[in-house]
This record gives sequence, C-alpha cells and structure tokens, in this order.
Amino acid sequence: MISKDLDQKNIPYHYEIGLAYIEGAFMGNHIVVISEAGDQDHYGTQGAKKRWENMMLSELVDEELPASMVEDIITFEWHKVDPQEDWSVEIAGEYLPVSGPMITKDTLSMSAESYPTCYLCPKPAKIEVMTAIGMRNFCGNKCRGDYEGIDYGPDDYYISPKLEHDIELVSYYPGSISSPNRSATLSAKCRNCDFTTRNQSFYQHHLVKTLEEWDEDAEEWWDTGEKCRHDKMQYLDYLENGEDAWGNIIAGHIVIGCPTCGFKDTLSHVNIPQGCDNRGRVEDYIRF
Ligand SMILES: [Zn+2]
Ligand SMILES: [Zn+2]
Ligand SMILES: [Zn+2]
Repeated sequence: MISKDLDQKNIPYHYEIGLAYIEGAFMGNHIVVISEAGDQDHYGTQGAKKRWENMMLSELVDEELPASMVEDIITFEWHKVDPQEDWSVEIAGEYLPVSGPMITKDTLSMSAESYPTCYLCPKPAKIEVMTAIGMRNFCGNKCRGDYEGIDYGPDDYYISPKLEHDIELVSYYPGSISSPNRSATLSAKCRNCDFTTRNQSFYQHHLVKTLEEWDEDAEEWWDTGEKCRHDKMQYLDYLENGEDAWGNIIAGHIVIGCPTCGFKDTLSHVNIPQGCDNRGRVEDYIRF
C-alpha cells in the first residue's frame, strides 16, 4: 500500500480529497496519498491527482460530450485532509448521490488506504504481481500489460495472481477452563471485501501457557502460575479456499499467535474466497 511504502522509505506524505463538479453539481470524489518528497515513482505530487481528473474527463467524453465541451463544464477542487482526525469536506452547490452536503468518514471511507487501487488507474485493484521494482497492484491484465510492456490479453486469457485479502482480527476470546469449559473463538474480516467469520470456534480453550516473570535477584524466569489470556493476540497468516483433484472445495484457515507467550493456533474450516474482490466493505462505506 502506498502509505506503507512511503513509511518504509521515511518519506512524509499527506492526504487530499478531490471533488469533481459538473456545471456546479457534485459528481464524485477521490482520495489520494501525496508524497511530500516530490513525485515518488507515479504516486507523487501531481501524478495521482491528474490521473483521476483525466479519468473523470475521459468518462464523460466517452459518454455523451465532445472533449472541448467537457473541459469547460467540469471543475475539480482539492482539499487537504487528515484521516486520523476528520476528513469531512463540504460539498458546494447541488449534491446528487450523497445524503447531505458533506462527505464525512461515515459517508465515505473508501480511500487509497483501505481500498487498494490499480497502480495505473483509479479502478479497484484485482491482481497483485511482482514487477521489476517490487509488488504492484493492477485492475487487470490491461493495466498490468501497459505497465510491463507485455500483452497479457483479456483477464480470462492469462490468469494473473489474484489480489490477497487484508485480514484483520475483530475480536478474540481465549475460552475458559472453569466449568462450563468453553472453547476459544475468533472473529476476523478482510479490510477490502465482505469476507467475515464471526465467533468461529477452535473447539478447545487456549489457556495453556503460563506467564513467566524475570526475577532480578535470582536472575531467572519464574512461573507466575497465571495463564496467559493472549491479550495482544495477532493475525499471522491465512490460506484461502482451495480445490482438490475432483474440484471439491477445501476450506481455508487463519493462523494467529500471541506475542507475549508464543502460543499459536490455526482456525480451520474458514470459508475464505479465492482472491479478494477488493470492492470495499459494504458496511464501511457508501459507493457512488
Ligand atoms: Zn488499471
Ligand atoms: Zn478480501
Ligand atoms: Zn499468550
């Protein structure tokens, strides 16, 4: 993802939201990450903004109007926003598709952050491939081919590697030993599609390791006798649904681990679709 990329390189960046108006009526918006160190390999100062503006322009030209006319009636406005705090932006004039005169985090949380876009165009990414300069997301074979200079043909002709899910733990319960003995459960979701598993059971509790503490005087670890409840349980890995030789679906799994005590377990029989459709989560945003 763009911001992670820039974090790794220690390059400061900020977010801007673009609003498009056609004859004064709001028609769409887009959020971009702007690197403050100049154009960083496409997603820089003007690249991402211009690409979206050009896409909006070309969509209208395709639809009904000649290019010269479109450029006269469509206007763009860019506002700097901070998604950590608030990214509400006031919409001027008529607003067609949203339920009020503001874009807020509630009406739109679709961003370059939570919703990976194609490296070359503003469409949602569908495939992820290793290119000469690192992993890149593309909307399909067309953009991948444009970028790599190879004609991959239509999307069903050359099957590119699908985009992976971005799994997040929603809640975790380690179970209980006292009667009734209760199993550990996990809820997890993908940040970029509707995949969710709710309170799925491990069929056993996870209260197996005891916490140790360092004894300064004796200079050794001692067992506190208290079971680790894995308060900082983390997502580690997943495997999507597969197929056996007869075409039967084999369910996927999710691996989690506790950084405090080193306990790990695998939640099996999780129905994780092959590849992420990357259309965002319905509950997280409204799409226009
Ligand atoms: Zn694309
Ligand atoms: Zn997904
Ligand atoms: Zn633990």
